[in-house]
Amino acid sequence: MGVPIIQQYHVIRYILEQKKNGKERYPLVLMLEPLFKCNLRCAGCGKIAHPKHILEKYMSKEECWEAVEECGAPVVSVAGGEPLLHEEIKEIVEGIIARKRFVYLCTNAILLKQKLHLFKPSPFFTFSIHLDGYEEQHDRSVSKKGAFKIAIDAIKTARRLGFRITINCTIYNGVFPEKMADFLDFVMGLGVEGVTIAPGFNYERAREKDLFLQKKESKRLFRELLKLSKGRNWRFNHTIFYLDFLAGNRVYTCTPWGNPTRNVLGWQRPCYLLDEGGYATSFKELIEDTDWEKWGPGKNPKCDNCLLHSGFEATAVNDMIAHPFDALRRYIFGIRTDGPILL
Ligand code: SF4
Repeated sequence: MGVPIIQQYHVIRYILEQKKNGKERYPLVLMLEPLFKCNLRCAGCGKIAHPKHILEKYMSKEECWEAVEECGAPVVSVAGGEPLLHEEIKEIVEGIIARKRFVYLCTNAILLKQKLHLFKPSPFFTFSIHLDGYEEQHDRSVSKKGAFKIAIDAIKTARRLGFRITINCTIYNGVFPEKMADFLDFVMGLGVEGVTIAPGFNYERAREKDLFLQKKESKRLFRELLKLSKGRNWRFNHTIFYLDFLAGNRVYTCTPWGNPTRNVLGWQRPCYLLDEGGYATSFKELIEDTDWEKWGPGKNPKCDNCLLHSGFEATAVNDMIAHPFDALRRYIFGIRTDGPILL
């Protein structure tokens, strides 16, 4: 597990408090998207396809802090678009850290080296760098030659300066497990804290539709990848049950309120991947007035191929709390990589 003990402690304490207070639906990670504008045009992205007038919208720093307070989640993922393009990104991050939340700033790292001076290393702050594989794979995925080299250079500089770094990796069609395994070895060698990994979500607005894997293919690929993990020191930013789910050993329902999304249009329903339910004007309205029963695999066809952490990591966390000995067994004996794949 790639998450430091201090962060695990804060998050577990928060979850136990919610349980003690009898909260049925509570957030774990706020997905904050203060802009959709980006300096790349990734083939599988569903954000940059918004019309121009939406791409020009920004959330102010005050709106960002208000969302953080309203929501209360212990972890805030600042994404976009490319958050380093936001003129107030320094103040946004500082304000969230001052509120004692763990911030993950998700960036494609194109501007990272020149903007590093805006930030200070802190146990509450991590750069989550988008890398979809080795040079050829990543440059193709983000539709920019040289993007991989720029990101690696920025990672090395940020590590030298003492920043926490994680890698955010999306898997698409045509990826080979052996190549992905070599890539994971490589990024671990850069001293990153962990890797967040998931199959790409089939965004309706994405430019290239044949990039996306079907659920069975995704689970088979993850199983092959985890088979190759034996004897290698890979650290994932996921719970063991979420990885077990990705490997086809569990069937989960989705918990979209675990990762609520606030962006330039409001509180997005039901999650950061889909906006079919429109937007709420407050977090309270999102939680109380959303018909959550309409979403998730088997309930909405758009959810059927989804395996994303934003929907299922919170389910896995609840499952681990309910079955701690089973979780311990998985940690000790590892994830099953044979037998039937559960869909
Ligand atoms: S399964 Fe959940 S996280 Fe995935 S698209 Fe549907 S509502 Fe969103």
